[in-house]
Amino acid sequence: MSGRDFRLDLDPDGILTVTWDMPGRSMNVFDQAAIEELEAIVARIAEDAAVTGVIVTSGKETFSGGADLNMLDRLLAGFRAAERAGHGAAAMERLYTEIFRLGDLFRRLETCGKPVVAAINGTCLGGAFELALACHGRIAADGDAVRVGLPEVRVGLMPGAGGTQRVARLVNTQDALTILLKGEALRPARAKALGLLDAVVPAGELLDAARRWLKETPRKTAPWDEDGFKGPAAKVFSPQGFNLWPAANAHYRRETHDNYPGARALLSAVFEGLQLPFDQALRVEQRWFAQVIRTDAAAAMIRTLFVSLQELNKLVRRPAEVAPAAIGKLGIIGAGFMGAGIAAVAAQAGLDVVLLDRDEDAAARGRAAVEASLGAQVSRGRLAAPDRDAALARIAAGTDFAALAEADLVVEAVFEDRAVKEDVLARAAASMRPDAVLASNTSTLPITSLAAATPRPADVIGLHFFSPVEKMMLVEVIRGRDTGDRALATALDFVRLIRKTPIVVNDARGFYTSRVVTAYIGEGHRMLTEGVPPAMIENLARAAGMPVGPLALNDEVAIDLSLRIMDAARADLGPDAVPEAAYRLVAAMVGEHGRLGRKNGRGFYDYPAARGEKKRLWPGLATLHPPRRDVDAIDRGELKLRLLAAMALETARCLEEGVITDVREADVGSILGFGFPPFTGGTLSYIDFTGTAAFVAMLDRLAVAHGPRFLPNALLRDLARTGESFYARFAPPRAEAGEGGQGDPADAVP
Ligand code: NAD
Repeated sequence: MSGRDFRLDLDPDGILTVTWDMPGRSMNVFDQAAIEELEAIVARIAEDAAVTGVIVTSGKETFSGGADLNMLDRLLAGFRAAERAGHGAAAMERLYTEIFRLGDLFRRLETCGKPVVAAINGTCLGGAFELALACHGRIAADGDAVRVGLPEVRVGLMPGAGGTQRVARLVNTQDALTILLKGEALRPARAKALGLLDAVVPAGELLDAARRWLKETPRKTAPWDEDGFKGPAAKVFSPQGFNLWPAANAHYRRETHDNYPGARALLSAVFEGLQLPFDQALRVEQRWFAQVIRTDAAAAMIRTLFVSLQELNKLVRRPAEVAPAAIGKLGIIGAGFMGAGIAAVAAQAGLDVVLLDRDEDAAARGRAAVEASLGAQVSRGRLAAPDRDAALARIAAGTDFAALAEADLVVEAVFEDRAVKEDVLARAAASMRPDAVLASNTSTLPITSLAAATPRPADVIGLHFFSPVEKMMLVEVIRGRDTGDRALATALDFVRLIRKTPIVVNDARGFYTSRVVTAYIGEGHRMLTEGVPPAMIENLARAAGMPVGPLALNDEVAIDLSLRIMDAARADLGPDAVPEAAYRLVAAMVGEHGRLGRKNGRGFYDYPAARGEKKRLWPGLATLHPPRRDVDAIDRGELKLRLLAAMALETARCLEEGVITDVREADVGSILGFGFPPFTGGTLSYIDFTGTAAFVAMLDRLAVAHGPRFLPNALLRDLARTGESFYARFAPPRAEAGEGGQGDPADAVP
């Protein structure tokens, strides 16, 4: 008896091998049909006397990515629509039925009376790992690509099919909470050491090992179903528990600032579940899950960090009629900080790299930086030494532009200086093949004008990387006025080759990300000049969900760069383009105090030379701008609102002006590019979930209180008037059936 998704093979010993292998997909996921089929299989396992033991495995390279988040996205959209239409109660009942189904199915498997072992042949995440946890034995293949874990919190959810309860009974509570709250995908050896796996064996021996387990050490009940079960978890009400839980709560607050309902519910589910018999504990988890899945954070995160991210990674913006670009060799001009980073990721992706600089010393320094970066990955266990050596062997460093003759794509990353860039681009164009594409990593200079320095502007495009290149997953692809489709297609193919996510924006001052980041940093400058203590600015920014405060971020991008941007804006748009106090602050930081940011160890923070010592806010800021005396009267909520609203409004302007053309790119770009709080779903989702009318009313209030920079643009006012959201008016074309489960976005989420 085999069905659509599962193959069944019963051997003469009564061992039933259940092989999950969904047709037409590269990865198994739990959708409606798969769940139904597995329900029938579990019923048969329980009833069929011929079955004495069961192996659950996968016919794909990976085991499974878990629940189909596209399905969940549609289920949620349906639920919200039904709720709006006044059928809330019926919709809720349906949602609960759907949600309880998978967990109940796994529990039936666990209590079927026959020993069941999971043979995990590849990545096994989310709902799939919950299935494995409900098996009595778990054996995983050893391999670089094999991972197990429960990454649900990374898309705003929590495990809802027994994961929290089983992990909390297999592993000591501290480790269990770390695993669950981080949503980390674990390597097999680590998972075994933690007690989540029974064995790790070479891939070729996996099924034999599973069969041996069934013959030699079978268990047909879960430990928690045995009388007198005592797991590694400390009792909640015990001296150990009293030590652990308050600390866990504090840790949760520090990490999340209580912005993530999924993480909070997860903590409650474990806390409450550990005090209950197992079946009740499962119900508690399911109820928490049912609450979490209805939150805005879950809806927003699933949409942006799973559905949209997946679509952008499939290059939805790529001109379809252009044939795939064959990119074998990459030229990089400028072997500095960014050039070396780009060289490292390209060589790791298997490209040959020519890394050029002004002189041999600079080129050699660039190559040494790549070596150091790859070496650091080896020491962290993220890269095998032979792979590092192979990547380094692909990089040729030098000064001769003639070496660009074989390149399919050339990226310049020289100084942010128009004359230097124009000279380099013109020389590169003269050395390159006529069909090769030329890209600039400029963060501010319009691509259209740079392209004009070459005889072939149709082949010139912007490829704006973020620092550190090795870590940041976004690349902003900038289309100049004359950029052709072939250059765009080549740039996008390249971005995917190095496994990053592209967004495509049109040419304008600051493009999209730098422009929004400038608004964020500018708001920080203003607060400082208003006398808000710098530590308060930074802490509240993080409490609002940003990874770093605006002053720390300014140090990263360099304060002299901010000054140059301000000067350019004042020259082009008049002296009112930048508020006088903020301009004076930045000019004084650079001109009088020589504080350029992290790059010279002195910015809004001091950066101690000693390793391991933390940066500290520069005490001199108090003299530049003495803090207000009535600090307690400062409205903290208002400060958080100002920081997020400034970025969201700037994004709305970018959309209105056609710099951004796709709402998905605005949202994904904001989270991956500058760390806009993931729980909001991104800058535009933040407005949509607030409600456009409410957001506009809030901006009008901020404009009265803090200045006209907060005045809503015409597009926002129009959306507020018609009651539309961005995603309603600019609805992106949705792919019908996507692929992949909870595992996919894991490493892309910051
Ligand atoms: P950098 O100063 O570290 O590196 C620039 C390199 O270019 C130096 O090694 C320099 O010797 C080389 N160079 C200068 N003139 C050259 C020439 N005529 N021919 C060959 N090589 C030459 O600077 P960076 O931080 O790597 O920035 C490079 C580019 O990337 C800039 O356009 C910058 O705006 C952009 N960018 C930087 C960041 C960032 O965070 N640093 C982020 C995104 C984009």
